[in-house]
Amino acid sequence: MSTKTAPGEGAAAAACAVCGAAEPDPRRIALCYGCRRPFHLNPDSGPGRDCGDVWAGSSAEEGFTGLELHCAPCFEQRRREAASALPFPPPAAAAPPDRPAGGGAP
Ligand SMILES: [Zn+2]
Ligand SMILES: [Zn+2]
Repeated sequence: MSTKTAPGEGAAAAACAVCGAAEPDPRRIALCYGCRRPFHLNPDSGPGRDCGDVWAGSSAEEGFTGLELHCAPCFEQRRREAASALPFPPPAAAAPPDRPAGGGAP
């Protein structure tokens, strides 16, 4: 929801969709694979902002064999989707609620 549109401003400087700061260096801005918005990407892990991450696409079902760039919110969402797509739930959620509490050794 950005209503700030400067007339005459093209693709000179992109503003990060995560932290909202403008980044004059296009090499440090990447487009999110999920929301298609620009965000800070620090390719060499040097000094500078890093508002996203690289998702290594290893799912053959999606027919994707490369890397997906995701901003931080989308990366988290992607990670959760991948976690929920696992054949078994994580141990924390796998514990049955009807397990007797305080039970000793049988
Ligand atoms: Zn940023
Ligand atoms: Zn995104």
